[in-house]
Amino acid sequence: MKLILLGPPGVGKGTQAQLLSEEYGIPQISTGDILRAAIRSGTGLGKRANEYMSKGELVPDDIMLGLIREKLFGEEPLDGFILDGFPRTLMQAKALNKMFAEYDQTPDAVLSLEAEEELIMKRLSSRRICRNCGAVYNLITKPPKTEDLCDICNGPLYQRDDDKIETIKNRLEVYKKQTEPLIDFYQSTGLLISVQSSGSPQEVHRIITTKLEG
Ligand code: AMP
Repeated sequence: MKLILLGPPGVGKGTQAQLLSEEYGIPQISTGDILRAAIRSGTGLGKRANEYMSKGELVPDDIMLGLIREKLFGEEPLDGFILDGFPRTLMQAKALNKMFAEYDQTPDAVLSLEAEEELIMKRLSSRRICRNCGAVYNLITKPPKTEDLCDICNGPLYQRDDDKIETIKNRLEVYKKQTEPLIDFYQSTGLLISVQSSGSPQEVHRIITTKLEG
């Protein structure tokens, strides 16, 4: 199964991608996670990406397209995946379509997760990440058992720079301008499935699987 997840930052793409990855046994390809890992390892890609990410801006399309081509269609093209955080611009979506066509593939569905802006702001500002293993917590809905420490590896939790309130506002604006138009783009291909993402992760997951399998 090949799935694409769309939606504003904080709508729950990462959480739903993880649940779908477990349910269908397909890898979650999160471009945000890949870039953050590159920043942690201090690679050239990480250094370039950080200039944009720290301000809540998008990393340039050419960098993202190279990265995604290698991940999806590298040595051995993947036969299933869930894309979380890509595409984010019309240019990326059109280039991805071309790559699919090159390999005679089509995505099975594009899931568009939706939620009110107030809920998104609340979710993003209470998100914490493990510095060590990248596990994601939420101080309101999924707090760690011990304050500031990861349940899985005991690593320290931190708040992403781009989850601070000033940067969140910019990310939401960038989303509206550059990513929201993709909803119409995929609607016109007949692949779009819209899902309200205001319930608990398990509730939203159930809605998604029902729609996918229905
Ligand atoms: P995320 O974890 O998906 O919220 O992504 C965090 C940040 O990584 C974004 O705010 C962008 O700066 C960058 N990023 C992730 N995916 C993309 C993409 N497809 N295109 C451009 N920038 C991206």
